[in-house]
Amino acid sequence: MKRYLAGSDDFNRWRVRTTEVVTTICLLIFAMIGVACRAGNGDPQPPELMIGSDVCEECGMVVSDARYAAATLIEDGHTHKFDDLAEMFIFQAKHPEDVVRAWFVHDYEAETWIRGETAFFVMSEAIHSPMGYGVVAFETRVAADNFAAELADAQIFTFDELNAWMKTRAQ
Ligand SMILES: [Zn+2]
Repeated sequence: MKRYLAGSDDFNRWRVRTTEVVTTICLLIFAMIGVACRAGNGDPQPPELMIGSDVCEECGMVVSDARYAAATLIEDGHTHKFDDLAEMFIFQAKHPEDVVRAWFVHDYEAETWIRGETAFFVMSEAIHSPMGYGVVAFETRVAADNFAAELADAQIFTFDELNAWMKTRAQ
């Protein structure tokens, strides 16, 4: 067995090799962590909604009608669910400490999750949403226009417009 004496050429070569091996292992570990983090940062997924048992974060009532339901995904990974999509905007306006990663609403006709940020919203007194805000969401502008055309007082909002409007209601 070869013995390495501190200060000798052999010892210095051994030290350099060991440093290279440790550096390589560290780089591999960082690379694996990077891959794992990216895997967790894919497209945000909406939460599973249990109609009839999930409770609205804002008003505390049971979510009973999928057409008006909404949810937010917060940066730290937790979610909030709402029975009336307008309350999603009101709740998040009241909780600026929650950084919202993704907003989800149900398409009024398909009753499936769509992204709130790109949805079109129709507001009318003829729409009887659970908490009375009278707002519904559609995936396309055409669908929102067609629905609004049937209602005398309908207004169409983009996400940013509705968010600004609801912020005034949250104060
Ligand atoms: Zn509610």
